[in-house]
Amino acid sequence: MKVKTKLKSFLKSLKFRIILIIIIFGTLPTVLVSLSMLRSYENRAVSVQSIEILNQAKILGNQIVMNDFMNDLSSETILGEITQFSNIYDGRVMLINQSLEVILDSYSLDVGKTIVSEKVILSLNGEEISKYDSEIGYIELVVPLTEAENQEVLGVLLVSVSTDSIATNLEYLSDGALIISAGILFVMIILSVLTSGRLVKPFGDMAKSLRDIDTGHSNSLEIHDYTETTHISNEFNKLHTRMKVMDSSREEFVSNVSHELKTPLTSMKVLADSLNGSDEVPVELYREFMQDIGNEIDRETKIINDLLSLVKMDRSSTGLNIESVNINDLIELILKRLRPIAQRQSIEIVLESFRPVTAEVDEVKMTLAITNLVENAIKYNKPEGWIHVSLNADHQYFYIKVEDSGIGIPEESINNIFERFYRVDKSHSREIGGTGLGLAITRSVVHLHRGAIKVFSVEGEGTVFDVRIPLSYIPPEK
Ligand code: ADP
Repeated sequence: MKVKTKLKSFLKSLKFRIILIIIIFGTLPTVLVSLSMLRSYENRAVSVQSIEILNQAKILGNQIVMNDFMNDLSSETILGEITQFSNIYDGRVMLINQSLEVILDSYSLDVGKTIVSEKVILSLNGEEISKYDSEIGYIELVVPLTEAENQEVLGVLLVSVSTDSIATNLEYLSDGALIISAGILFVMIILSVLTSGRLVKPFGDMAKSLRDIDTGHSNSLEIHDYTETTHISNEFNKLHTRMKVMDSSREEFVSNVSHELKTPLTSMKVLADSLNGSDEVPVELYREFMQDIGNEIDRETKIINDLLSLVKMDRSSTGLNIESVNINDLIELILKRLRPIAQRQSIEIVLESFRPVTAEVDEVKMTLAITNLVENAIKYNKPEGWIHVSLNADHQYFYIKVEDSGIGIPEESINNIFERFYRVDKSHSREIGGTGLGLAITRSVVHLHRGAIKVFSVEGEGTVFDVRIPLSYIPPEK
């Protein structure tokens, strides 16, 4: 099974493909050239031999006609020449008369027989015929025996000659070609193995480098042998840096979460310990401490709830429950709930709606986002201050502006206020019940709706949050 997997992986490898390509393109031309050379040698040898035999046969034919051998087969000279001819060319000579009868056969097999063959009949009409049969290895010639004076064809000379010598040469040559091809194949195999090893080496280096990065022995991928590997290295390094940043921000988040969750627990522990440590605790003090413990529990609950909202939001927009919502009503409802809290600090909230707005949003999440902004405007306001909320829209977006006359945000903090757990003044925020997660939640909600949020602030004078959300929900690209 292991061998099978290894073989499968080798067959799928780039190395194997390179080996195959080099072998095919290196060996195929040699094989093709050898084959075509053998073929042309065969054609050439056959044609040279055919011409030579044809000439000799014509000479013999002339002598036969001149000596009137067709009528008198006793001429020793001609008989001798026929025997010599058949010996030299290792062939058979037959003499056939006008009535297609074999009158002489150097193999003495068919004398007296009648040969009805197309070639003989054609030749009796004066044609010279030459044919090579590669399968049985013979050249066959039919030469008309024509009388010089009246051009009468007296008969034909049929010669069949073995091409064994050509076949032997061909065999010898093809053995040579085979040896050369095998040699080239051998060289190509060695060459392809060496070359493919060198060509795929950068990929092996890449895998090793990635392992080193994984085990912490290396920090970046630097394989620059090819343009392609340089591209891969660059893209990987970018991704790696992004992942490192994500990793460290996750670590920071986890440590922030632990810290934030520990703070109320520590307070509760101190309160409980001091109650447990004293023997006689007055009921009033007992009540006060229990009240404080209750407040810390509320705070812990708020942090956990905020964290849960944030985590849910981070998990992409699949959890959005989009519906058509009347934004004027939504804002009015939020302000109705928050006005009593604002009134405690004599803060006045004014709503200015420029037009009726209906938009496709997640009502619960949008409520949470706007509530956070107005709550902050109350929390970080001055006594007897004001909050101005406005709603407007064009054909594409609706705009919510939350403006306050509060303490403002210092310039150096303005870029950080959307970060989780960031607070300009930690103790102040804690005192007034902040978790540092409100704006992070608001920004996530706005982004899930493909909107934008901006902040403008002057320290000591007030802050403005500008939110822009599309009227129609734009689903994320798959
Ligand atoms: P918190 O729970 O502390 O209010 P937020 O994420 O809502 O956390 O806000 C982060 C910080 O930004 C706050 O601690 C506060 O310092 C600052 N901030 C937010 N809104 C306002 C505002 N309207 N005016 C002044 N400061 C603000």
